Amino acid sequence: MIINLNITGSLISGVDCNKPLIMAGPCSAETEEQVMAAARELAGIGVKIFRAGIWKPRTRPNAFEGVGSAGLPWLRRVKEETGMRVAIEVANVKHVYEALKNNIDVLWIGARTSANPFAVQEIADSLRGVDITVLVKNPVNPDVELWIGALERINAAGITHLGAIHRGFSDYGKSAYRNNPQWQIPIELRRRIPNLPIIVDPSHIAGKRDLIMDLCQTAMDLDFDGLIIESHCDPDNAWSDAAQQIVPQHLEYIIKNLILRSQDVDNKKSVTLEELRVQIDKLDDEVLRLMEQRMAVAEKIGQFKKENNVTILQSSRWDELLKQRINIGLSKGLSADFIQKVYTAIHEESIQHQKAIMNKNSK
Ligand code: PEP
Ligand code: MN
Repeated sequence: MIINLNITGSLISGVDCNKPLIMAGPCSAETEEQVMAAARELAGIGVKIFRAGIWKPRTRPNAFEGVGSAGLPWLRRVKEETGMRVAIEVANVKHVYEALKNNIDVLWIGARTSANPFAVQEIADSLRGVDITVLVKNPVNPDVELWIGALERINAAGITHLGAIHRGFSDYGKSAYRNNPQWQIPIELRRRIPNLPIIVDPSHIAGKRDLIMDLCQTAMDLDFDGLIIESHCDPDNAWSDAAQQIVPQHLEYIIKNLILRSQDVDNKKSVTLEELRVQIDKLDDEVLRLMEQRMAVAEKIGQFKKENNVTILQSSRWDELLKQRINIGLSKGLSADFIQKVYTAIHEESIQHQKAIMNKNSK
């Protein structure tokens, strides 16, 4: 179901928010000098929105938890001296009041907070009647409904300059990323709320700086609206998230080298695109027709098992089938992971069909 949020005007009042909107700044505000140095350099490369964490939600205690309200006047100075708008994270009502008192332009709700409807509702209530931009990061867990719920709560409080930030999802175990991008989730968010700007946070997805450029390009290729990137003049000595921060010159290089593709193509080329889409539609019809036939056979197997009193699942057959399909898939240039996912879904559907047959007319 498509959701219509009340989203009006530019994401940030008075700022040209054309794609790609770039927000950048250090993970944390550490000292006034560090904030001002980053701000000057970032303003110099054309960044319009400066980010800095004032209160830091750390996974473990005893890490740097932010300078707190003492850093807010530094951000006022950033505004005055560079003309950039400033953005900070808020996690509770006190943070909101402090931010409003200090003329902060953009508030973002962090991933740990957006996972908690009580906290989000409290923030929403404290923002009633305030004209400010709010960006909602995805919750740490891959739950698009929870993300949508947080956006709805903020929007229902009257915030119409509203956007989402995709920062990836926690996962257990080793991965190339700090937070798994699971692009299908922000894509689903876009499908559900088509008028919602979505900004990608490659820094927190990557966790290390050499993956950032590639993630920025993917974000653009998937047609997201902007990027929020952690940038620090001396990243290796940053007080938080050192491995993922980049110097402003590195950011400038990334921005200059982003390839921006348009969503539409000119008429002459779009004929070809149309033709390719027709081909895709035809192939999908074929895939679905084959699935229908496959399920019909599964039902016959169900009937056979029922008559012969055999269990639905014979795990050795399933193991063997999956192995063999993965090998065939690999020979056709399809990844093992893809085949595994597709066949797990097909197998589950087959079991449902078999179950329906086996339980028909039986008590
Ligand atoms: C941050 O932006 O510095 C931050 C703490 O991000 P997240 O809430 O995505 O972990
Ligand atoms: Mn950070």
